[in-house]
Amino acid sequence: MAYRILFITAEYAPLAKTGGLADVSTALTRYLHRGGHDVRVFMPYYRQVAAAGLALWPVEFLQDLEMTVGEHRYRYRVLTGAAPGADLQLYFIDCPELYDRPGIYGETADEARRFLLLTRAALECAQRMAFAPHILHCNDWHTALGPLLLKTTYAWDQLFAATRSVLTIHNLAYQGVFGAEHADELGLGDASWLLHQQDLAEGRINSLLHGILYADLVTTVSPGYAREICTAEYGAGLDSFLRARGERVVGILNGVDYEEWDPSTDRYLPVRFGADDLTGKAAVRRALSARVGIAIPDGVPLIGMISRLVGQKGIELIIPVLPEFLRRGDCALVVLGTGEARYEDFFAGLALEFPGRVAFHRGYSEELAHWIEAGADMFLMPSQYEPCGLNQMYSLRYGTAPIVRRTGGLADSVVHYSRDDGTGTGVVFDHYEAASLRWALDYAIRLYREPAQWARLVANAMRQDYSWTQQGACYLEQYARLVGPS
Ligand code: ADP
Repeated sequence: MAYRILFITAEYAPLAKTGGLADVSTALTRYLHRGGHDVRVFMPYYRQVAAAGLALWPVEFLQDLEMTVGEHRYRYRVLTGAAPGADLQLYFIDCPELYDRPGIYGETADEARRFLLLTRAALECAQRMAFAPHILHCNDWHTALGPLLLKTTYAWDQLFAATRSVLTIHNLAYQGVFGAEHADELGLGDASWLLHQQDLAEGRINSLLHGILYADLVTTVSPGYAREICTAEYGAGLDSFLRARGERVVGILNGVDYEEWDPSTDRYLPVRFGADDLTGKAAVRRALSARVGIAIPDGVPLIGMISRLVGQKGIELIIPVLPEFLRRGDCALVVLGTGEARYEDFFAGLALEFPGRVAFHRGYSEELAHWIEAGADMFLMPSQYEPCGLNQMYSLRYGTAPIVRRTGGLADSVVHYSRDDGTGTGVVFDHYEAASLRWALDYAIRLYREPAQWARLVANAMRQDYSWTQQGACYLEQYARLVGPS
């Protein structure tokens, strides 16, 4: 049996991406589609999607639709077309009033409604298409109310009688908390008692919490993070609810889309390379250095970072530690990212203080990201917490040694290198403190100065396989748990 899957997401790479959610949505649905499953992906028709110039056409019987959300009435229609570079068809909810604006997310009063409409529209389109999904797959807070709506508002429809719901949490920190005055907009009627009553009494609705309470299965993006979020330290206030779901909370490591992220086929690189010949990697390092204005001798490692510049990513540890290494001339640094002003200012300041040793590119660039993965010697990711993290896995394939903290998906994908037996794929430190990062950088730089050890580490790293072939199969296993084997 091929599964029918209704997949709802706020992000889809490369059309609308702020982070890992987009990458996973794309790669997982492609994997399922190639496996012969019938996946219907629903996402908003953001302004930036419209600007991408995809060949889209209106779905004839999904035009001029209406939805009432509380006191608000919206009109929308559905466009469809192939995902970039794939033959999987995507469905776009075109509701200009909610989506024709700059950016993907915002802080306007209608933010909750923007994604509630997406979730409800996807379910209502399934009804109009007579598409009876085996699985309703929701992602993050944006669509986390899907499972509750399925069990209430849409429960009357026999079409969904056999549908089981999955919520994938890509980051527990973003929960979509809104004022209780939005309760009516959910349209639950008598079933409103299913909302978390204590929260409601205190004036709020937590979207993600309701997904955790009502999804038939909750997945998150690494086994390590699945364990961590059940603890008070990492549970962001939701740990008790997650613990209560017991075996219904499962961690599946994200896969890597090696069609996009492999140095031997990478379309962005000036020179390609593979594990058997790393001269190409040295050439990319030279090209990258010239491009961003780094001037260092061969024996000095170039450290790369590509990141949203937010607290989660461990920049607080970097601030007191990295300048020491730079001052001694032990390494150089190239950073690509945007985020909080204080972090952007820190890296901009470093670039001024260490010209030729530090380059900071403020912004988002797919191309430069590929160049950094390929041209850097090490990749720095000292996250405070990390649901999965993709860059450390990309780094492995590009022979760029990840330096990571042992948390979440970083702990699941990088093995600390032991110079005694030559095993391991990167440098891993335990404690979230500056001294530990200092130790890790020191360890990495010393290893780099021992060419035989370094070559071994790089070879180990490049052999790792985190493809979707493996990770996608884990999702199918979980679907099978819910609705029987495919
Ligand atoms: P998160 O989802 O927390 O942002 P992940 O490591 O899971 O972190 O995914 C981040 C994704 O976004 C990666 O594919 C990374 O390369 C990409 N990315 C982040 N910032 C930038 C940027 N400034 N330019 C290009 N790509 C970026």
